[in-house]
Amino acid sequence: MPTLGLGTWENEDPAQCAESVRTALEMGYRHVDTAQIYGNEAAVGEGIDAAAVDRENVFLATKVWISNLAPEDVVATAEASLEKLGVDAVDLLYVHWPAGEYDPEETLPAFDELVDRGLTERVGVSNFEPHHVERAMDVLDAPVFANQVETHPFCQQSTLRAHADEHGYELVAYSPLARGSVFDHDVVRDVAAARDVSPAQVSLAWLAEKGVTAIPKATSEAHIRDNWESRSLELSAEAVARIDAIERHRREVNPDFGPDAWE
Ligand code: NAP
Repeated sequence: MPTLGLGTWENEDPAQCAESVRTALEMGYRHVDTAQIYGNEAAVGEGIDAAAVDRENVFLATKVWISNLAPEDVVATAEASLEKLGVDAVDLLYVHWPAGEYDPEETLPAFDELVDRGLTERVGVSNFEPHHVERAMDVLDAPVFANQVETHPFCQQSTLRAHADEHGYELVAYSPLARGSVFDHDVVRDVAAARDVSPAQVSLAWLAEKGVTAIPKATSEAHIRDNWESRSLELSAEAVARIDAIERHRREVNPDFGPDAWE
């Protein structure tokens, strides 16, 4: 899985969304993240189609929404997602949250069925705490490939990072810029100024240093490029330690959804 991808939540205008995806792919991105609930799978598919990049070189992930997690709905809505995306299969299909109709014994065999039918290469989970991941591992035949959770300098997910290492799955950071909040933090700004880079690049380089895949959402070419250029930024040990120390345990997305994040 390419370790820097493009997020697409709230990139809702279809033409703009397709253009963002095309721009990112032609710049070098090879990982695109969407979800049924974002309402933009068709536009994401159009962007992939329009880009001068072969489909097999793009790692494409989508997520099954919480109201679609009864087994027959998993299958029917995943098929509908593929249709909208205009692809035969996705590279990664996530359970979006362990909520709503989620029932591991009922939901996860349907994900295995989709793997068996070749409609997804891999199964992922999202917003799962360690105990949810372990339950999923017990029930699934397929491995749990990744857990996508909010991760950034204010929500560092040290417990989940250790859990991912121990159990052999990838951690994918959503809201890796804390939806813009990192731009205003003194330490992030300081580190950015000292290196003459943007605060966004500092947040993404910090995640890369932690071995976490990041999927920043960016709409304009300038933001898409700024984030892409974070790949050449290597933070000093001192800068990493300063960012490690700003842990705030604060989530930006659904902060009331579940106890105290996943720390
Ligand atoms: P984010 O990536 O932390 O922040 C996105 C915001 O930062 C947008 O307002 C974007 O503006 C701005 N931005 C991006 N790059 C920038 C740059 N270089 N300089 C200045 N501003 C910049 O937030 P997110 O969208 O919540 O998270 C990223 C992705 O994670 C989502 O799009 C989605 O794919 C995924 N996600 C998943 C879940 C889940 O439950 N699994 C939840 C939330 C998000 P512009 O759009 O104007 O460029």
